[in-house]
Amino acid sequence: NANRKFHPEDTIVKVGNTQIGGGTLSLMAGPCSVESEEQIIEVAKAVKASGATMLRGGAFKPRTSPYAFQGMGADGLELLKLARQETGLPIVSELMDISQIPLFEDVDVIQVGARNMQNFNLLRELGTLRKPVMIKRGLCATYEEWLMSAEYVMAGGNDQVILCERGIRTFETYTRNTLDLAAIPVLKTLTHLPIVIDPSHATGKSALVDPLSCGAVATGADGLIIEVHNNPACALCDGPQSLKPDVFDKLAKKLFSLHGLM
Ligand code: PEP
Ligand code: MN
Repeated sequence: NANRKFHPEDTIVKVGNTQIGGGTLSLMAGPCSVESEEQIIEVAKAVKASGATMLRGGAFKPRTSPYAFQGMGADGLELLKLARQETGLPIVSELMDISQIPLFEDVDVIQVGARNMQNFNLLRELGTLRKPVMIKRGLCATYEEWLMSAEYVMAGGNDQVILCERGIRTFETYTRNTLDLAAIPVLKTLTHLPIVIDPSHATGKSALVDPLSCGAVATGADGLIIEVHNNPACALCDGPQSLKPDVFDKLAKKLFSLHGLM
């Protein structure tokens, strides 16, 4: 059960040699999509050196247009595993469909994308696994709906659930989405599950990632998931919101010291 009332202690999700929740700051970083061996290895090494605790990378991409790059699929997952071997960083990647579950057996954290937050059959199936699942908030989902999605996974006996706020749809179009930082303190009262913030998809603009990441740490986030690319101008997906490794390095230092003050 995701409800704080029935489970007062914070849930700590253990992943390899790191954890999400329990007072540590989890820093997940990496490209929107795995594009090549050189790209993912270079980014993985860079973010590891900056203190990232996990590597992100999409292999199956939920793109708005069917003609846009759809990700490298199973080959992308293999490259992520190679990057994990090279750096020791656990990996997180999005699973879009029940049929892909066997491919994710050796992936450390399964990400459910915003567009799949209410794919109840998928959530139920993920509940049968004994592996961490990170559920991104749907584009127009309320806290209650989001928590019910977590409940679908937990009802199957999988209690390793992480929530990720990635911005919601509002009337504002300047930013890609509108980051709802209030979600952090509110959800901390409603649930014991760890909460991660994605400032990259929330804003769509690399220049806004730093201030909103700081806001997320200041309001009690358990972690951040940040897009980092070695060459954002040539990224196959989400270049405008991706940080260069040197910018991520400075931000990571700032976030860890800010977290130390909390
Ligand atoms: C992602 O993290 O790669 C992604 C597609 O995010 P979202 O599901 O939040 O749009
Ligand atoms: Mn992306």
